[in-house]
Amino acid sequence: MFPGTLGGGVVGRALDKKIWSMDVINIRDFAVNNYGSVDDEQFGGGAGMVMRPDAIGPAIDSIKKTGKIIYFSPRGKVLNQKLVREFVADKDATYTLLCGRYEGIDERILQEYDITEVSIGDYILSGGEVAAQVFVDSCVRVMDNVLGGGSDSTQNESFEIGGLEWPLYTRPSVWRGHKVPEVLLSGHHGNIERWRKQQSDDLTKARRPDLIKENKK
Ligand code: SAH
Repeated sequence: MFPGTLGGGVVGRALDKKIWSMDVINIRDFAVNNYGSVDDEQFGGGAGMVMRPDAIGPAIDSIKKTGKIIYFSPRGKVLNQKLVREFVADKDATYTLLCGRYEGIDERILQEYDITEVSIGDYILSGGEVAAQVFVDSCVRVMDNVLGGGSDSTQNESFEIGGLEWPLYTRPSVWRGHKVPEVLLSGHHGNIERWRKQQSDDLTKARRPDLIKENKK
């Protein structure tokens, strides 16, 4: 599953360039028996299996430098761009990303270790691996020297600008009868900036009024 999507595109190139790195641990290597079991039935009954603490604990203990430990979970703090910026603020940070499977992990793991729970949204995934990839992708792309075009290309994005991004256009200037807005071809930077700001404000008001309230807080 790893590097998965993290092996491609700008994030994959940054991996090749050693701007970031990762070690992957297979929890199955810490299975509690010869069958490779890392899960068991729930105490108290109910459908679905739970990951055993005596498999996850030793897996975590095998890591020399864990840094902050993050467990991906629907009940965690929901990831957003502000949180992403906080996670990358410490340039030398190491993170241990714990990916759950089945119904999740035994609660005692959360008692035993200092763990931050992070959710990537209000829906249920079958495993934490894609959540981990969402997390790493969003963190790496705002790190220095990852995107071309300087810091502008990360600062001019939705959420970074306090709302949603304006509509984007490239060549050809006419496609199937659809024209690129005149102002963008005018070369008038002031007008272009005003147009973009207006588009961004309108879109944000129509689709994500919650972001406007958030900015006023
Ligand atoms: N029983 C849990 C869901 C388990 S889903 C519940 O009802 O809350 C299995 C695993 O997928 C979880 O352990 C977690 O690591 C991952 N996962 C599922 N949804 C997620 C989400 N929205 N954000 C982050 N991780 C998630």
